Amino acid sequence: MSQTKLFDAAAATDLVNELRAIFNSGNTRSYEWRVSQLESLLKLCVDHEEDICDALRSDLSKPALESIIHEIGMVKGSCKLAIKEIGNWMKPEKVQTTMTSFPSSAAIVSEPLGVVLIISPWNYPFFLSLDPVIGAIAAGNTVVLKPSEISPATSSLIAKLFEKYLDTSAVKVVEGAIPETNALLEQKWDKIFYTGNGRVGRIVMAAAAKHLTPVILELGGKTPVVVDSKINLQVACRRIISGKWGGNNGQACVAPDYIITTKEFAPKLVESLKQELERFYGTNPLESKDISRIVNANHFNRVSKLLDDDEVSSKIVHGGEKDKSKLQIAPTILLDVPRDSLIMTEEIFGPLLPIITVDKLEDSFEIVNSGTKPLAAYLFSNNKKLKEQFVACISAGGVVINDTTIHLAVSTLPFGGVGESGMGAYHGKFSFDAFSHKKAVLYRSFVGDVPMRYPPYTDGKLRF
Ligand code: NAD
Repeated sequence: MSQTKLFDAAAATDLVNELRAIFNSGNTRSYEWRVSQLESLLKLCVDHEEDICDALRSDLSKPALESIIHEIGMVKGSCKLAIKEIGNWMKPEKVQTTMTSFPSSAAIVSEPLGVVLIISPWNYPFFLSLDPVIGAIAAGNTVVLKPSEISPATSSLIAKLFEKYLDTSAVKVVEGAIPETNALLEQKWDKIFYTGNGRVGRIVMAAAAKHLTPVILELGGKTPVVVDSKINLQVACRRIISGKWGGNNGQACVAPDYIITTKEFAPKLVESLKQELERFYGTNPLESKDISRIVNANHFNRVSKLLDDDEVSSKIVHGGEKDKSKLQIAPTILLDVPRDSLIMTEEIFGPLLPIITVDKLEDSFEIVNSGTKPLAAYLFSNNKKLKEQFVACISAGGVVINDTTIHLAVSTLPFGGVGESGMGAYHGKFSFDAFSHKKAVLYRSFVGDVPMRYPPYTDGKLRF
């Protein structure tokens, strides 16, 4: 619903009532409705690939190839998987019963939750809006999507395309900023799925608590990369660069936030990162067409402020160039910044990559675990024991060994945070489950009635 008049709490109440009536009519529960909507979403991606790339270029200067692979391709993949598997996901899952209920049979039945709200951010504005919508539709819900006002071109394109391709009686888009989001948050939903920062995550959760509405919060954090010395350094650096700067110029929730390596190895690592960066983005990355810009002036100032501290800026070993008129900040590496500086205590969410050094790599565990739990954690190593320790000792939403970020493209893995990086997970079947209630169903017949369970509770029954 692309609205021209004020979207206030009364309008939000009407919207939810309308969607609840549609949900209660049962339309969205059928297999046919779910598949038809997902097929339309897939067609939307195919028909409008160029428009989507244009919108992402307008919002973020996102290179077309990144838009096609990281946003449109991911959405298409999720649609195709859901269309193929939805029949299986919808089937009741038979489970064993126990002696207590003998004779009986039991099943877990996935039922749609009802009317769900999805609030999405600006950094992957197409993928992070549509991917949860796919889960909500696959599970048979009615949906309101509130995309981010910070990526207006993509938000309005989504609103326009949903009108054209989807059943708008059941799937709506509300464009807007904080007032519109607050009007939506006042309503009673059956689930709220929020992607963004933890400060707003707390606002969402507090609003949801008033109605006992369950939430999924996909938040961020400081994603560490621990780098061992006996590795294929060139491949490691390429994968770090691709996860950091190739992922929206650092504006990605799972982008490497900082590196930890040994004092001894750090100079070699810095040198190799510099070489690969130059190979990817040339000698003047501010002119490169292959890297996104910072989304807006506020975020440009926020990232720049991380370098204001002289103790931090003096540690730049590569990059540091900025062009405010183009909202560009070059890939920047810093070595041995103070651990208590802003750049090491806040999520960077931009193109700066500090490196912290330690005497031995095992010391990195204490550094990572002393902060809030990150959304992802990466280790580059060939050492079996270190890999095992990393998986066992580091608490993070997800862990990748010898690569960065690509776990989110593995649909058999749940994607979500832990602690302050979020709660709940989605992707693949986890998306269907995220928007379903798992109803416990026990089937009994009239045979096998045991009088012992009924009063009067005689001594004889107690002794049995
Ligand atoms: P954002 O500013 O676009 O905000 C996200 C949504 O919250 C938007 O729809 C916005 O309208 C709404 N919002 C903003 N302020 C609000 C308020 N005061 N009250 C109600 N709603 C409000 O995006 P952002 O938060 O800057 O996104 C970046 C953050 O999101 C980073 O921390 C990043 O790590 C995290 N993130 C997480 C994931 C994930 O999958 N876990 C993905 C992307 C981004």
